[in-house]
Amino acid sequence: MDSKNLQFNSKLIHSGAIKDKFGSVNVPIYQTSTFAFESAEEGEKCFLGESSGYIYTRLGNPTIKSLERCIADLCGGFDAVAVSSGMAAVNTIYMALLSKGDHMISTAAVYGPSRGVMEDHWSRFGVESTYVDTTNLENIKKAIKPNTKMLFLETPANPTLDITDIAGASKIAKEHGLVLVVDNTFASPVLQKPFELGADVVFHSMTKYINGHADVVAGIVVAKTEELYKKLRPMMISLGCNMDPHQAFLVLRGVKTLGIRVERAQENAAKIADYLEKHPKIEWVRYPGLKSHPQHEIAKKQMSGFGSMISFELKGGFESGKTLMNNVHLAALAVSLGGVETLIEHPASMTHSKVSKENKLKANITEGLVRYAVGIEDVNDLIADLEQGLAKC
Ligand SMILES: *Cc1c(COP(=O)(O)O)cnc(C)c1O
Repeated sequence: MDSKNLQFNSKLIHSGAIKDKFGSVNVPIYQTSTFAFESAEEGEKCFLGESSGYIYTRLGNPTIKSLERCIADLCGGFDAVAVSSGMAAVNTIYMALLSKGDHMISTAAVYGPSRGVMEDHWSRFGVESTYVDTTNLENIKKAIKPNTKMLFLETPANPTLDITDIAGASKIAKEHGLVLVVDNTFASPVLQKPFELGADVVFHSMTKYINGHADVVAGIVVAKTEELYKKLRPMMISLGCNMDPHQAFLVLRGVKTLGIRVERAQENAAKIADYLEKHPKIEWVRYPGLKSHPQHEIAKKQMSGFGSMISFELKGGFESGKTLMNNVHLAALAVSLGGVETLIEHPASMTHSKVSKENKLKANITEGLVRYAVGIEDVNDLIADLEQGLAKC
């Protein structure tokens, strides 16, 4: 059966499946570094690319290929390249698609290390970059230079949950011949389909929603066309940032429940956002599903749901942030997101504690800002946990 004709939740279970002679219902873990050829002639064909046989796991592996086919199908891309982490995905994209003298425009609120590696390291090889508030498309237009080659968007972006209009940005990218890359980690393939909105390359940190169980670090790059895939795959092989077969097996197991996990978590998140917005100790709440979110209308247009990440500002500032961290018991005090368990983080005292006050403000990271990644627990337990924690703030 061709999984291309299936609906999303059926694809999660069946896309990329392998048939073996035992009738294995799950894709086996092909935990092998190398593959024996049947003959010298067969080996020659594999190396010439005339046979689809496997050669060596860094180049490709049946368990990993199954995951790649599954995610490519979910996203509607030509094919995918699985990698060892979300950051391996970022670097594979930069190295495959940018060269010395090229310029890239990116979302100012992009994931910190995506910006850090570009400014600290790719700049050493002559790649230029500019970071703008991409929620206003005029800022993208203004930043375009004769050597601009790539537009790199993250939406929703972290921790402010800024939303960029992907279709609008894609128009600008097409007019100027830029390759449009979208970090789709926060939305996951369930809630947002960037290829349908004009993206050329879509990537995910599978550490988050796709695997969903906080037990794997992994990434994936999906190419819309064969031409892009043929640039990305050899780069992953050269960089050596391949995924491990066991890691791929765990992600294949996690992805089967992606649809119901995301649905449940965002149901919880909507209720928690409403609860927080009415709470007297809270200054504001940022959740794309709230009418108060500045890009609520764009979120409604380009996403099929609003996800399960919430940011909020405590009236009591820095000290209140720390007090809340020390007094919630169900939510784990940890970075990351997209798992079945709820996590809470205070950027000012944790992830961004070394950033100067001025730069924190530039990135809208205020002293009382809390990031809450909602899991799939019973929502009343989560609200009760916040209630007693907030009572101490
Ligand atoms: C976590 C994350 C990454 C990096 O992924 P790793 O798997 O941690 O390497 C990139 N982008 C976003 C939006 C993320 O949340």
